Amino acid sequence: MRAGFAGVLMCGVALPPATLTGMAHDLDDYCTAHQPRFVEELIELLRIPSISADPAHAADVRRSAEHLAARAREAGLTGVEVVETDGHPAVYGERMVSESLPTVLVYGHHDVQPVDPLDAWVSPPFSPEVRDGRLYARGAVDDKGQVYMHLKAVEAHLRTRGELPVNVRMLIEGEEEVGSAHFESLVSTLADRLVADVAVISDTGIFARGVPSLTVGLRGLTGVEVEVRGPSLDLHSGVFGGAVQNPVEALARMLASLKDPESGRVLVPGFYDDVVEPTETERAGYASLPFSEEGFRRDAGGIPETVGEEGWTVLERRWVRPTLEINGIWGGYQGPGSKTIIPAHAGAKISCRLVPAQRPALIAEAVATALRAATPRGVVAEVTVKHGGNPVVTPADHPAVTAASRAMGAVFGKEPVIIREGGSIPPVEVFQRVLGIQSVLVGVGLPDDHIHAPNEKFDMDHYAMGVRVLARLWDEIAEEMG
Ligand SMILES: [Zn+2]
Repeated sequence: MRAGFAGVLMCGVALPPATLTGMAHDLDDYCTAHQPRFVEELIELLRIPSISADPAHAADVRRSAEHLAARAREAGLTGVEVVETDGHPAVYGERMVSESLPTVLVYGHHDVQPVDPLDAWVSPPFSPEVRDGRLYARGAVDDKGQVYMHLKAVEAHLRTRGELPVNVRMLIEGEEEVGSAHFESLVSTLADRLVADVAVISDTGIFARGVPSLTVGLRGLTGVEVEVRGPSLDLHSGVFGGAVQNPVEALARMLASLKDPESGRVLVPGFYDDVVEPTETERAGYASLPFSEEGFRRDAGGIPETVGEEGWTVLERRWVRPTLEINGIWGGYQGPGSKTIIPAHAGAKISCRLVPAQRPALIAEAVATALRAATPRGVVAEVTVKHGGNPVVTPADHPAVTAASRAMGAVFGKEPVIIREGGSIPPVEVFQRVLGIQSVLVGVGLPDDHIHAPNEKFDMDHYAMGVRVLARLWDEIAEEMG
């Protein structure tokens, strides 16, 4: 799950028609009546320490997959199985009602982040506790709680009406928190069981409490590593200094040439060529959000001011504009005291966040070309291009976005803003690239849920609303896409 600060674009979709709002009262009543049990069941799942990053917890990740599979069968999914990968297991289940109905692919993950520092937790991370209407536990909102919303939404339909209005396929991964390393091969293995019209993913949050939002876009990623080599060994700066190119200085000049310090624009030729700019409607939507510059600076570790590409707001710079960042740099002597050398080599890691329709391979090559062109005489630069991921955006007028807007609007009592996020969620990119399926991210977490941190929590009102949103969503998708 990616932390708060989603992107945005005001959704032009009207609030739900009264007929559809009324249609879901049976579902609402069921969810409300059974909510205490929904909480108890989630607590049982949260007791399992399925930390995918820690090999010592491998058996727990498997136990969490098996537990979830059993609950999926109880909810009414069929063909449920724990699916092996070369890493941790996933869970697959489906309910295929009719070929004539739209098919939705639900994605989530059952693994969780590590829990350090343990002493910062008010209650132990795997002893779930409800305090002030919030359930505290590792994985409460990221992502076990939000996966569980989907199971309960299916249950609500089957217990109140006997059948779902759409076909549902569910794939719950066990390696999201370690980079979804085997996800693409998992998807290829299951490809014939993942055929769907749209993917619905609940692994994100809303913009702010009281500001419901739907995420439809994520940035892509690419990167390069550059190594600059001069002399074959560190040289004495007195004996050789003044006549030899310094690799650290050369690297600094090369890196500085990539960006204009005044405008904040990336100067790599071709960098912006394929960028699709947001529409005026989208920008108006972003501007309408209750964004606090001061709060952002605080969340960014107390920075004195924000910077970025001229002509764009902070939200836009993070969601709809591409970036070039130096992630690491090394070279020369960094120990105590001084060592008067001309270093033999220097290096840096660079990454770029991409927006539609930039392509990772093209951008990485453009950056590599710019670095080579900027390499001063007297040194040699070697640039390695890294693997990347495509940016993804589902159009705001996609029927599933319309459906999700109505479902969310009905439950939250307010039309959601359509947002983007600055990060990347590899499965979303894989669904689009490998399966040709677009995604809508219907999450109900809050920016202060402390995902990946001590005292992770899930607001129990949001849990209850999330189940109702997803239950209604299947009605709305049947209406929009049927
Ligand atoms: Zn997550």
